[in-house]
Amino acid sequence: SKAKLFDEKTDTRTSFKDVAGLEGAKEEVEEIVEFLKFPDKYTSLGGKIPKGALLVGPPGTGKTLLAKAVAGEAKVPFFSLSGSDFVEMFVGVGASRVRDLFKQAKDKSPAIIFIDEIDAIGRARGKNNFTGSNDERENTLNQLLTEMDGFGTNTNVIVLAATNRADVLDKALMRAGRFDRQIYVDLPDIRERKEIFEVHLRPIKTSEALDLDFLARQTPGFSGADIANVCNEAALIAARKEKKAVNKQDFLDAVDRIVGGLEKKNKIIT
Ligand code: ATP
Repeated sequence: SKAKLFDEKTDTRTSFKDVAGLEGAKEEVEEIVEFLKFPDKYTSLGGKIPKGALLVGPPGTGKTLLAKAVAGEAKVPFFSLSGSDFVEMFVGVGASRVRDLFKQAKDKSPAIIFIDEIDAIGRARGKNNFTGSNDERENTLNQLLTEMDGFGTNTNVIVLAATNRADVLDKALMRAGRFDRQIYVDLPDIRERKEIFEVHLRPIKTSEALDLDFLARQTPGFSGADIANVCNEAALIAARKEKKAVNKQDFLDAVDRIVGGLEKKNKIIT
């Protein structure tokens, strides 16, 4: 909400078990969990713990989920902020909000800061494809760079940022000591879709053993968020029909509904 400066949660419930597929990305963020848990081990030989990593990939593929799981696995507070919140902000507010966020995270360190849609503040400077005041956006970006540069090696706050447009980001963000690691979070392949179904079927009451290979085949191009949506929608469809459990046909109806929604969305874009 607008009134809140940012969200802070000590979310120890989200774990890597909630993140299906994404083996490569999980391996990379596991290292970040280690840095948060045992910083001294990693700095003992003079090495510096990375300050930030960029999670890059299409919408709904689990970037936010992965960042939350890092905080959950390391049992550290999770501070989150969305770049798009800055779009409507008054002059000076963005920079001070970034400053407050970093101060709070440092006070509670070890901690994770998550910046969703970083492209809304991190677009290359001088490009005017931003809806709000460009000066304000630049101030916010500059404050973010200042904060990351100001971290000592023993701060133990790691900043994860998500984007689906790494190509538009200001190169200054990717410089050494800032978001110098990029972690790719892609759309799931058929095997990963099956695993995502497994995760999201956990709370669903089904009437038969569902063929997950079949469901995975029926959902090419679906993101993890789309699959979560299918499972939820199937449960609602079945409940609407006063059924006691969800069956295969309910899933197929849900897939159709989601496909319809995706097609509509694509029509508006193109
Ligand atoms: P956006 O770019 O739109 O912010 P995102 O990549 O951050 O998207 P999430 O918000 O993490 O995506 O995903 C939305 C929801 O979709 C998750 O809360 C989860 O329920 C489901 N989901 C997405 N990816 C996965 C995955 N790999 N495994 C399990 N669930 C997933």
